[in-house]
Amino acid sequence: MISFEGKNVIVTGGSRGIGAAIVRMFSKLGAGVAFNYNKNLHSAEKLSEEIKKFGAEVFFNECDVRDYREVQSFVRNVAEKFDHIDILVNNAGIWEYGPIDQMSVDNWRKTMQTNLDGVFHFTKLVIKHMLKHDIKGHIINISSTAGQRGEPFYSHYAASKGALISFTKSLAAELGPKGIHVNCVAPGWVKTDMTQKTMEEQENEIAKNIPLGFVGTADDIAGPVIFLASNLARYINGEVLNVNGGNVLCG
Ligand code: NAP
Repeated sequence: MISFEGKNVIVTGGSRGIGAAIVRMFSKLGAGVAFNYNKNLHSAEKLSEEIKKFGAEVFFNECDVRDYREVQSFVRNVAEKFDHIDILVNNAGIWEYGPIDQMSVDNWRKTMQTNLDGVFHFTKLVIKHMLKHDIKGHIINISSTAGQRGEPFYSHYAASKGALISFTKSLAAELGPKGIHVNCVAPGWVKTDMTQKTMEEQENEIAKNIPLGFVGTADDIAGPVIFLASNLARYINGEVLNVNGGNVLCG
């Protein structure tokens, strides 16, 4: 029931973790896929080789989401290669420990620039492209449970992810009349490189507080993203889809 044949998607931070799972799923469902990464060329190349085997059209490049000029050049290159961009998944993000009394201005800014400015950069440019070509597209922002209920020692992260929710709701109302859907996925705990150390130390404890009793995988987040980008979700706009095993209920 879900096919993305003839559609093209950009996934930011697609080289690893949740982004890579999203890239894989879209490519298996027939989409042309473009993704960027920050430093990890090796993972990006490996993923690109893997998804070419599904017959997918792929474009990837280094592009720091914090840098507007780099994003401009990336989006321009994708538009040239694929002609039209139908879906944007704003996934790239960082999660760095930061007690408020020890948080430097640089720590604060790095998180905001990556998790929030980066989303603005990509969204502005992709929306401009969609409006110019009258594309009834989808924007999907990856927030977090931290953006809904806060997270001690990660206040900069929680603030950035909370802002993504209000950004999503604002744009859903602004762009809905143009046929563009803007939604959000808010994952709870997911096993990726981002959480690897925490999982090694605390996975059992964390799982005890999740009603479903286990920590999610990157594929558990990719599926709901696919759903939101599909025609099955055509009446969903400005929504935050919680994907956390019921964890927010315990928060
Ligand atoms: P991850 O495994 O650490 O992967 C992060 C991805 O983002 C990588 O592809 C990385 O590129 C890219 N990236 C980081 N900074 C970037 C920058 N400045 N410019 C471009 N790309 C950049 O993280 P993840 O767990 O998959 O998380 C993906 C998203 O889900 C994030 O927004 C995160 O906040 C959110 N999330 C995760 C969890 C969780 O439990 N894992 C929970 C809630 C929300 P390189 O490979 O080049 O480093």
